[in-house]
Amino acid sequence: MNKCLKNIDIKNKVVIIRCDFNVPLKNGKIIDNTRIVKSLETIKYCIKQQAKTILLSHLGRVTTEEDKKDKSLKPVAKELEKLLNEKVTFIPQTRGEEVENGVKNLKAGEVLLLENTRFEDIDGKKESGNDKALGAYWASLGDIFINDAFGTAHRSHASNVGISSNIKTSGIGFLIEKELTALEELNCPDKPFIVILGGSKVGDKIGVIENIVEKADKILIGGGMAFTFLKAEGYEIGNSICDNEHLSFCEKMTKKYPDKIILPVDFRVTSEFSDNTKVEEKDIDELDFNDMGLDIGPSTVEIFKNHLKDAKLVLWNGPLGVYELENYKIGTDKVLKYLAKNDIKTILAGGDIVAAATAAKVEDKIYHISTGGGATLEYLEGKVLPGIDAIK
Ligand code: AMP
Repeated sequence: MNKCLKNIDIKNKVVIIRCDFNVPLKNGKIIDNTRIVKSLETIKYCIKQQAKTILLSHLGRVTTEEDKKDKSLKPVAKELEKLLNEKVTFIPQTRGEEVENGVKNLKAGEVLLLENTRFEDIDGKKESGNDKALGAYWASLGDIFINDAFGTAHRSHASNVGISSNIKTSGIGFLIEKELTALEELNCPDKPFIVILGGSKVGDKIGVIENIVEKADKILIGGGMAFTFLKAEGYEIGNSICDNEHLSFCEKMTKKYPDKIILPVDFRVTSEFSDNTKVEEKDIDELDFNDMGLDIGPSTVEIFKNHLKDAKLVLWNGPLGVYELENYKIGTDKVLKYLAKNDIKTILAGGDIVAAATAAKVEDKIYHISTGGGATLEYLEGKVLPGIDAIK
C-alpha cells in the first residue's frame, strides 16, 4: 500500500498537493464544482494539521497563449475559499519570484494555489512531457508531496511523477486512497464476482475483458458491444452498431468462456437512432436487416438480475443501452435500481455509467463510484499507474 497522508507528519511543513480541479467552466464561471468538493477532505486535513499548503492542478488543455484566457485557476481559488471558509491565496504564475515569495510567506494553516500547471505546456509541453527541470523546481518549493488527482494518475506529468521523484517524502491523499482501496478489492474479489460491460465499442474494452475474465464468475454484456459478440455467433443484428474489427476476438472469447460470457436474448429495437421512431421488443433471432437495437429487452434484464442476485461484488463499466435517449435507458435503469435496492456491493467505473447512476438517483446506494475515467480503465486493464507508482 502506498504511503497515506494520515501517516505523514505534516505539521509546519510545506505540503504540495496535486489536486484535480479540472472543472467545467463557462464564461469564467464554474458550472460543476464536484471535483473541488471532493478535494476538500485532504485540504481541510492539511489546514487542521497546521501544514503550509501549496495546491497544484491542471485545467483543460493549454497549447497556445490564447488558451490561457479561459483556463486560469483563479475562479477555482474563489470557489475553494467559499467552500473552505478560509483564505486561499492565488498566485497567477506557475514558477518564478512571485511563486517563491508566496511560499516563503506561507504560515502554518494557510493555503496557496498556483496557476494551471498546463500553462507550462505552451513552451514545449513541460508539464505533460514531465520536463525534469520543472518537476525538480516544483519539488524544491516544498517538503512533502501528496498526490490526490486520480484522474491523471495514468499520466507521467511533471506535477505528479516529476515532483514525487524529486522530493524526499511523498504520499497519496484521501481521494486516491479511497479509489485504490475500492479498486484493489477487484484484485482478489469476493465471490461470486460479476462484471457488467456495456457501451458502444468492444475495441475499448479488450484490455479490461482480458484482465478480468479469469477472476469474474460471469461477464454480463449489454449495450452496443453485445452486437459484435452476437454477430460473431452468427446472428442477424440488422443496423445495430458493430465493431467488425473485433469479431474474431469476440468469437474467441465466447468459445473459450461459453458459460461465463452472458449475452442478451432480446432487445428494444427501432429504425433510427432517435426517440421519435417506433420501438419494438424483439428476441435476438427475430431481428430484421433494418432493425437497430438500442437497449436490452425485458427478458435480458431478468436474466441479468438472476445472475446478480447472489453477487458479493459487482463491477460495471458502460451502459446497457443508449441511456441518453428516454426510450433506451430502461435496461440500464432497471439493473442499476435492482443493485441499489438489494444493496449489492457495486463499483461503477467510467463516465457514462456514473452519469446514468446520477440520472437514476442511485449514487448514494452505490458502494464506490470511480471517477478516474482513463486512469480507472487502465487500472482495470492491469496497467501500472505512473502517478501512483512513483510514490513508494
Ligand atoms: P463507451 O464509451 O464505449 O462506454 O460507450 C458509451 C456509449 O455507448 C453511450 O453513449 C451509449 O449511448 C452508447 N450505447 C450503449 N448502447 C448502445 C447501443 N445499443 N447502440 C449504440 N450505442 C450504444
